[in-house]
Amino acid sequence: MTEQKTSPEARPAVFVDRDGTVCREVNYLRRVEDLQLIPGAADALRLVREAGYRVVIISNQSGVARGYLTEEMVHRIHGALIGMLTARGAGVDGVYFCPHHVEGNPPYNMDCPCRKPNPGMLHKAEKELGIDLARSVVIGDKYSDVETAHRVGIPGILVLTGYGTKERERILREGLPSPDHIAPDLLAAVRWWLKQHPGTQLTPELPG
Ligand SMILES: [Mg+2]
Ligand SMILES: [Zn+2]
Repeated sequence: MTEQKTSPEARPAVFVDRDGTVCREVNYLRRVEDLQLIPGAADALRLVREAGYRVVIISNQSGVARGYLTEEMVHRIHGALIGMLTARGAGVDGVYFCPHHVEGNPPYNMDCPCRKPNPGMLHKAEKELGIDLARSVVIGDKYSDVETAHRVGIPGILVLTGYGTKERERILREGLPSPDHIAPDLLAAVRWWLKQHPGTQLTPELPG
């Protein structure tokens, strides 16, 4: 058992993967023009935020290590993504990405504690955003998203968008631990989660 250092105002978060979960999976997204929201994703993020959760995007971007795009390009894509989401009434509290990969180019060639399924991004957000990790959840289209959640002992939901359908097959084939729930997409995942946690007793964020 670990001692949780949570401040009284700490809020749970819905951690969401980016590619294949919030926006369409295009192999190593590197152009803003290719950015396309998955139907219902903005509504999903708006719903959980209205319920008092923080919304945190966590994304592996090994394309940086592999030399496919620069960190600056990742930031530009995230700026555009946040713009698309806020235009649809959905706010995001944090966006974290890991540009590393062991087989990448220097200085990115490292086994990073932030690369999912390592839970580094969850812990970083926990510290920086004041998150009650124990009441949080991770939603993503890959088994590694589910595993990231399980490594800190919280539920992981698999969505069937992006690589989700293939990943569900792989989970069965390889006998991997089951996701806590499997949903057709992010909106369905969020609806299910909010139904399971109707009494989270979250206080709404003060305006301003
Ligand atoms: Mg993904
Ligand atoms: Zn990293």
